[in-house]
Amino acid sequence: MSQPRPTTDPSSSPTARGARQVPFTKIVATIGPASEDRVGELIDAGLSVARINFSHGEEGEARERIAKVRAAAQKRCTPIGILVDLPGPKMRTGTFPGGRVELVEREVIRMRTGSGEALPGEVLIDVPAIHESLKPGHRVFLNDGQIEILVEDGFGETVVGRVERGGSLGNRKGVHMPDSVVDYELPTPRDRAWLKFAKELDVEMVGVSFAAQAKELREIRALIPNAAIVAKVERRAAVDNLDELLEEADGIMVARGDLGVELELADLPLVQKSALAAAVRAGKFTITATEMLESMIHSSRPTRAEVTDVANAVLDGTDAVMLSAETAIGDYPVEAVQQMSQIAFSVEQSQRYQHRPRLKLNPAEATFFNAIAMAAVHTANALGLKRIVAFTETGNTVRLISRYRPNAEIIGLSPNPSVVARMTSLAHVRPVLFRREVSLEDMIHIASEALELRGVCESGEEIVIVAGVPPGVARSTNVMKLHRIGEEVKFH
Ligand code: PEP
Repeated sequence: MSQPRPTTDPSSSPTARGARQVPFTKIVATIGPASEDRVGELIDAGLSVARINFSHGEEGEARERIAKVRAAAQKRCTPIGILVDLPGPKMRTGTFPGGRVELVEREVIRMRTGSGEALPGEVLIDVPAIHESLKPGHRVFLNDGQIEILVEDGFGETVVGRVERGGSLGNRKGVHMPDSVVDYELPTPRDRAWLKFAKELDVEMVGVSFAAQAKELREIRALIPNAAIVAKVERRAAVDNLDELLEEADGIMVARGDLGVELELADLPLVQKSALAAAVRAGKFTITATEMLESMIHSSRPTRAEVTDVANAVLDGTDAVMLSAETAIGDYPVEAVQQMSQIAFSVEQSQRYQHRPRLKLNPAEATFFNAIAMAAVHTANALGLKRIVAFTETGNTVRLISRYRPNAEIIGLSPNPSVVARMTSLAHVRPVLFRREVSLEDMIHIASEALELRGVCESGEEIVIVAGVPPGVARSTNVMKLHRIGEEVKFH
């Protein structure tokens, strides 16, 4: 059963609502106990996409959170995309008596396959036959890299290792074995169950954890054809196979949490930059994720380094920046979104932002779509226009315009609520639900009035319009028109 989506049709709500000020760079926030009852405030602070992490919690909880996001979006007449994040084959420890164990440097411990409670001196890992994957000299990272164990020996199904870097370890923490070959299937059976649920709820985006090959993404797309597929770059294999992942995915997430364990930490900044650049070249959207404002889990202000990290991602051309624990379980979820908005706004005013990486216009792609997208971007840039207004049935025209990263804002008007919600992840795109009219003249006339009324466009402002005639036919983009807001529209 799909749930109600926001009605943001400017033509159906003639009262001027005062357009919400959001940065061009989109903000994704993970919804959890700290934020599920404050989604409206997150939206007011600049939220565009709500992430529901399927690694934590059960279906009932996720269903409730999605309903809360959609209700808050509906109340504010603001489209908010739902990004669900699949658990994937994340390796985890079992549990410990009392829920925790202290691992001390130089201590020798035993590791074996299992997901239950460990005996003293033991860590269970929920990966089949770990004794076959772990060889002497291999490293095992626990608790997302906080603890390091070096494998020394093995007997039977037990692996013996020495604690190289100790620490406190809780139940079911993440495990990484960067030197070992671990066979797993993706999507996992658990992912498949979540995908069925996500399809039933008609979510807009699916994050594919631990993706490594295009065929995995194809399989997931077949299971949920209407959702945008976001390949999470969090394994070395994803970095190595990025081109093939980019070909199949709609977007990528640079998931720095797991990636920072799989790679040497010092390599992470350049891998992030290269992944963003590759996605820009491929015309796919990007989300930069994890520990962006980590200190705000417990502090009302971010550190200087965090502010700089968010700013750098924006300057590198990311479409979206993401908050994880900051909004899911943190003490300052709304303030974290506000901080991200402010940082993005500030960077977007700069001259340097105008020089962020972008795809060169590509005349070799000889389609009406591409020709019109190039013409719209070129025209808006040449005339210094602030807005491109695109009527879109499928979102495709807007996606094509956005991949050229114009300086202008792209107003994506669509009669389809799920298309509107899918456009929320694209930088510079303001998605708006808009009723379809029978003639292009009426569409332009009504849209101009509504956008002026909402304070999105000013009277007399020159805009580029992109549309398909006749209206209502998918994949028919064939018109670009220059228009002055308030002027009569007459084609004959
Ligand atoms: C990450 O690893 O950075 C990430 C976003 O994935 P998850 O939160 O699922 O670990």
